[in-house]
Amino acid sequence: MKKQCRSTTGEVLFEYEGLLLDAVNQFLYNTCWGEFSEERDQLPHFSLDLSQATKEDKHLEGFDGICQDLRGSNFSGTDLYWSAFREANLENINFSHCDLRGASFNNAILINANFENANMSFANIGGGADLAGANLTGANLQNVNLNGTQYDSKTIFPEGFIVPECMILRRDDESDQEFSKRAKEIKTKHYEEHGHPLGCPCLQCVPSPQNVESNTKINEK
Ligand SMILES: [Zn+2]
Repeated sequence: MKKQCRSTTGEVLFEYEGLLLDAVNQFLYNTCWGEFSEERDQLPHFSLDLSQATKEDKHLEGFDGICQDLRGSNFSGTDLYWSAFREANLENINFSHCDLRGASFNNAILINANFENANMSFANIGGGADLAGANLTGANLQNVNLNGTQYDSKTIFPEGFIVPECMILRRDDESDQEFSKRAKEIKTKHYEEHGHPLGCPCLQCVPSPQNVESNTKINEK
């Protein structure tokens, strides 16, 4: 029997047999990359609701969300181990209780994203990724790369987490223009000092993924 994948507003986005991972990757590939666009603002927006997927379908390891506009999607409780969300627009997304170990979020928009109790160890959230207003309560941020990641006064970090110096605080009293000017200065200074850009994903700048613990998979609890 065919299963249905719906949006958060209840609309059927596609029907599928087999694994949700294959179906959703295929769906996004067909609908978004058929007419390839350099401008991520021009890609169609899908608010996927995967929260009600079967246990078997919650395994989305290696999910490809690169450059996608997935604002407001609900991935709650899914296994997104080593998935890719570089350059994606993930505003208001629900990643609560997800396995996001090793996932890449370089330059992703993560404004108001919900990462409650997500396992984000070894995730790469560097570069221009924006965590303004994001909720990271209870998230595992062990060995996460936050080089150059933006945040603001509304960002909620896990208890006891010390915000590293490599993160850029967006002050409440500064305009977009003032902020981008200041962020640019910080990035230039970092490049001059380190020879690699702030948020560089190379092995020298990011902890090696070989040490990722394999005994804490959320979906197997
Ligand atoms: Zn580097």
